[in-house]
Amino acid sequence: SDSRPDNFLRDIIARDVEAGTHAGRVAMRFPPEPNGYPHLGHAQSIWLNFGLSGQFGGKCNLRFDDTNPETENEEFARALEDAVRWLGYEPTAVVYASDYFDQMYAWAQDLVRKGLAYVDSQSEDEIRAMRGTVTEAGTNSPFRDRAPEESLRLLEEMRRGEHPDGSHVLRAKIDMAHPNMKMRDPLMYRIRRDAHHYRTGTDWAIYPLYDWAHGQGDAIEGITHSVCTLEFDVNRPLYDWYLDAIGIPEPRNHQYEFARLNVEATVMSKRKLRRLVEDGVVAGWDDPRMPTIAGFRRRGIRPEAIRHFASLAGVSKVNGRTDLALLEHAIRDDLNSIAPRVMAVTDPVRLVIENMASGETKTLDAPYWPDDVTPPEAAPKTRPVPLAREVWIERADFSADPPKGWRRLAPDAEVWLRHGCVVKCTGFETDDAGEITEIRATADLDTFENDPVGRKVRGAIHWVAAETALPATFRLYDRLFSHPAPDELEDFMTAVNPDSLVTRKGWIEPSVAGDPADTRYQFERTGFFWQDPEDSASGDLVFNQIVSLKDGWAR
Ligand code: ATP
Ligand code: MG
Ligand code: MG
Repeated sequence: SDSRPDNFLRDIIARDVEAGTHAGRVAMRFPPEPNGYPHLGHAQSIWLNFGLSGQFGGKCNLRFDDTNPETENEEFARALEDAVRWLGYEPTAVVYASDYFDQMYAWAQDLVRKGLAYVDSQSEDEIRAMRGTVTEAGTNSPFRDRAPEESLRLLEEMRRGEHPDGSHVLRAKIDMAHPNMKMRDPLMYRIRRDAHHYRTGTDWAIYPLYDWAHGQGDAIEGITHSVCTLEFDVNRPLYDWYLDAIGIPEPRNHQYEFARLNVEATVMSKRKLRRLVEDGVVAGWDDPRMPTIAGFRRRGIRPEAIRHFASLAGVSKVNGRTDLALLEHAIRDDLNSIAPRVMAVTDPVRLVIENMASGETKTLDAPYWPDDVTPPEAAPKTRPVPLAREVWIERADFSADPPKGWRRLAPDAEVWLRHGCVVKCTGFETDDAGEITEIRATADLDTFENDPVGRKVRGAIHWVAAETALPATFRLYDRLFSHPAPDELEDFMTAVNPDSLVTRKGWIEPSVAGDPADTRYQFERTGFFWQDPEDSASGDLVFNQIVSLKDGWAR
């Protein structure tokens, strides 16, 4: 399909396949840390890893980078796994860095024996202070030349929980004057004696650091192309150094970097998203305004749209920020050909058609689909829409004192009630505050059967007959932040848009009562909507706006 990754990484893999580098094999992995709910950035990475490997008939594992027991849990892991499947991918295997703790430990002992690693008994603060700076070499630890036998003994005691947190670490012995700071005797293990790991419990009192875990996991799984985000480019020499040190021969796993996805008016770090939830700015991780997979699902966005967006946003080697308009475009594009058109009035005012008798109903056969859309094969083409003397129209579709060029209803003006007839406004009522309470009109009854095209009407408005309409709550969403780059502000919370959710009570045409609860609609002239999967019930309909229409007046 047109959502397949096509970028510089694809070219690298194609070249390797062509050259037979890994005997033509392609193996990738998506490696999240289970410390939060998946977001749009993860979706990009899932699409990239599963999409690329799939193109080459390769495999792709879901690997949990569960090396940090204090922040990780089962709930987050399951949410990440669900996200992969929801996006339409099946992991070749679901694996865990913690599956490899024994192997990693054995390799670490090897490194100590070879004089390539040592136990440092300085505090982490002391170690940091002695790393030097970009322009100044670091200083060797006084423990750097500790005998391997002593390091091995201490390492084993550390593993068994005989030493408190922070008393020792295991470090690789590389070069304290290396121009790349990551290569200055990096930490391999630290003690977390009292932490409870959600999978390994209290088996381990030491935990590997990211760099010591990641490439080794890749090697164990036979990964060929290990892609990660740009900030890890400085870690690549260390990634390769560890593989050399443990003796993994070429052809072996290599790391490649791509620019992380940033989207306009959105934050995407799990930590910042957590803050929005904990401070009550949103109702939860699945609030439809959240850029999380859970939020997209609840909003009614389909995986097709997210995959399409990922391909449109693309993958680059330089950091940038993608317009929110691109995401909205992908969502509209996905829904356009699957969403039947119906009428709903989100901010109603009563219109009385004076030349229709009360109790009189005309049932119109209204098309679900515009002419330029090819609907799904089995989809019904039309639905019955009742018209009666009293109808609801949008408050915004009437002006008592219209500006020049007004194309909706106004005193003495005519509009077409969509699918119905032409009406001419004959008057209106207001309350004490000057608020319009009722509009009166006469219908041109000849226009029922005839296309009003050719008639000089100023515009067409949507409506629903009052007596048969179903009451509904409409949740209209706008961007969550009013600043284009909230994550660049000192405090991103100051940029929260106070009007990101507007709730309205209105009416919807009765035809929807018979539809499956998960039907996505286009409300004519308003936007795409579906029923909130938690809060909507047949007697108490609640609709979430999925996305507005491009030129929607509602925004
Ligand atoms: P966060 O900062 O939100 O915690 P992370 O970078 O720590 O995210 P992980 O959950 O540790 O993410 O990693 C999962 C995978 O998703 C990694 O390979 C990471 O590179 C990728 N990823 C995370 N955020 C983005 C993003 N914004 N764009 C592209 N890929 C991303
Ligand atoms: Mg992380
Ligand atoms: Mg992070």
